[in-house]
Amino acid sequence: MPRLPQLIETKEEFLRWRQSLISHSVGLVATMGNLHAGHISLVEKSFQENEHTIVTIFVNPKQFGPKEDFAKYPRTLSEDEEKLMASWKRLTPSKNLIIFAPKTTEEIYPPKFLTTISVGKISKLWEGTHRPGHFEGVATVVYLLFQIIKPSIAYFGAKDFQQVQVIKKMTTDLLLDIKIMACPIVRDHDGLALSSRNQYLTTEGRKQSLVLPQTLNLAAKILIEEDNFENFSAFLEKTKENDDRWEYLAYCDSETLINLKQKQPNGILLGVYKVDGTRLLDNLLITLTIKN
Ligand code: AMP
Repeated sequence: MPRLPQLIETKEEFLRWRQSLISHSVGLVATMGNLHAGHISLVEKSFQENEHTIVTIFVNPKQFGPKEDFAKYPRTLSEDEEKLMASWKRLTPSKNLIIFAPKTTEEIYPPKFLTTISVGKISKLWEGTHRPGHFEGVATVVYLLFQIIKPSIAYFGAKDFQQVQVIKKMTTDLLLDIKIMACPIVRDHDGLALSSRNQYLTTEGRKQSLVLPQTLNLAAKILIEEDNFENFSAFLEKTKENDDRWEYLAYCDSETLINLKQKQPNGILLGVYKVDGTRLLDNLLITLTIKN
């Protein structure tokens, strides 16, 4: 029998609830809260595909660097609950929704916690270079959430493309019986990918932020239309040289994320553009038919 959505704030209570489950169709959406339409798109996908949907809300200290925004990261639990309730009521009051929002960090990392999960080379590239230790923090918390929640399917946004690849690799390597589902990027009306960090932008910064999706689209167009790969590479190099707000802009293999030196069927453009001190992250998958 479906029940009204519940809020659970301790691991012990969650584990009790989890053990009482007979059905195995459990979808997980792991978030840091401050939910927007991008997060809700993952939740709605899980509602469609599972009997039970667990949304976790936990600002994970281990994935923030010492100079990053952990302290000021927006924490908006009541608004998040309202958004989830509204989506649940609108779509699937016949399914179960559990919001797991650990009240303290110790719920996830007990006092003597020592372990770190590291997924090797893929977590050292791009975001891993600019945010050392970030993916170790992500992999560790996601592994723990997988252990607590035991989902059948976990939904992640393609917005954090490298994160999805790191989690897929960890899941395969550690023989976890969980399907990892990458869901499309949800964008604002003008093309900027939704992100909880967009609210840090000033009005002027919000305008400048459009350079990011617009450049990705232009680069994709050049890559598709241009036969000479050197010209495409030169475009990426010039773009970065002319604007020091680019942290990186690269064309990579969409699985390994290694930088590509020629066109390939499965590639991705990855970019980070820094506006008002805020790192904006975006990407564009490019699938090509290569003629021999
Ligand atoms: P976060 O709360 O930022 O850790 O994000 C939680 C999940 O939501 C991650 O899987 C993100 O990739 C996903 N997500 C964040 N922004 C978007 C977006 N604009 N479109 C789709 N998914 C997103």
